[in-house]
Amino acid sequence: LAADNAPGSARSLRLTALTKEFATFTAVRSLDLEIPAGSFFALLGPSGCGKTTTLRMVAGLETPTSGTIHLGDDEITYAKPYKRPVNTVFQNYALFPHLNIHDNVAFGLRRRGIKDVDRQVKEMLGLVELDTQASKKPTQLSGGQQQRVALARALINRPEVLLLDEPLGALDLKLRRAMQIELKRIQTEVGLTFVHVTHDQEEAMTMADTIAVMNAGVIEQMGSPAELYENPRTTFVANFLGQSNLIEGTVAAAENGVVRVDMHGTQVSIPAERAHTRAGAGWVGIRPEKVLVAPAGEPIDAPGNHMTGGVITDVSFVGVSTQYLVMMPWGQELMAFEQNTGRRGVLAHGTKVDVSWRPEFAFLLPASQDVH
Ligand code: ATP
Repeated sequence: LAADNAPGSARSLRLTALTKEFATFTAVRSLDLEIPAGSFFALLGPSGCGKTTTLRMVAGLETPTSGTIHLGDDEITYAKPYKRPVNTVFQNYALFPHLNIHDNVAFGLRRRGIKDVDRQVKEMLGLVELDTQASKKPTQLSGGQQQRVALARALINRPEVLLLDEPLGALDLKLRRAMQIELKRIQTEVGLTFVHVTHDQEEAMTMADTIAVMNAGVIEQMGSPAELYENPRTTFVANFLGQSNLIEGTVAAAENGVVRVDMHGTQVSIPAERAHTRAGAGWVGIRPEKVLVAPAGEPIDAPGNHMTGGVITDVSFVGVSTQYLVMMPWGQELMAFEQNTGRRGVLAHGTKVDVSWRPEFAFLLPASQDVH
């Protein structure tokens, strides 16, 4: 399969000003997106944000109101679904119950009168590690195995782009985790472009090399999982991918690559490339695992922004870490997650503490956005 999609022939998928309106409701709003060939791309967002509608337009199952879709130099905006080198795997994998696994996977090729079907089916079933199950009926397989059959059935058509619409949504948590690793392995092996729609941030981060976070019909931010997590640009992204402490502040100065922010009487600094506003009010963001807590007055070994006067109001021991809530003098509870390295015992509820973090971990978001 990979040989048929050798570098040079691989084409990127490009959406330009893609818009879909249903009556008076705009589900997808002037989306611009370029997905490089061979990438594992995730469209991540809450229910109703327009992910599925976007995917359906790429598949040709929905007609855009305006905008274009290109594969390389070819425009496919209005091409019939079966004329596009695009296949979709849905959550309800819809296998033919009366056909065995081999025949389910062979179905598309046979219908197109292609020779050499058995060899190709065998190769595909090998890829999804179901070669020993070929003669079984779908009901004799587990949910995860059925999902892999659906994947083989789509991949055997050798699409350039494989669309996955919440394909793991019907599986239980443990199986879903296993399938995430499996899907990633298969994508690497076949080298096709995978576009995966999900509302599960952990799933997107586990599998995708690039994630576009969608909210209310627009893309809020796009980047690698680490970029989005470490340097979110909006409060929506900061809260949708993991947890964030967001603290009100006002920009005091921006100079020499550093933005200084007055935050409830303490001045904190934020590297310019992580400061997404340069003036006025903003939200200082810091991930809970970057927040250090120490008994009040104890010297802090990490240099950085330092705030005194906290009190621990909640302690949750969760094995690998201890999760604290710390009430700060300005009346906000901050989350602080501390790895259980055994360096120090768990701090008790009611302990007076100081809080600090390294400046390079903080980010600054425009205050014009609501905190979700
Ligand atoms: P989910 O994860 O729940 O499927 P989603 O992000 O995939 O959500 P879409 O299915 O793309 O969201 O839907 C986006 C919005 O468009 C929703 O508010 C939905 O109600 C609306 N919508 C989708 N299809 C239609 C339709 N055929 N007619 C009218 N509104 C629609």
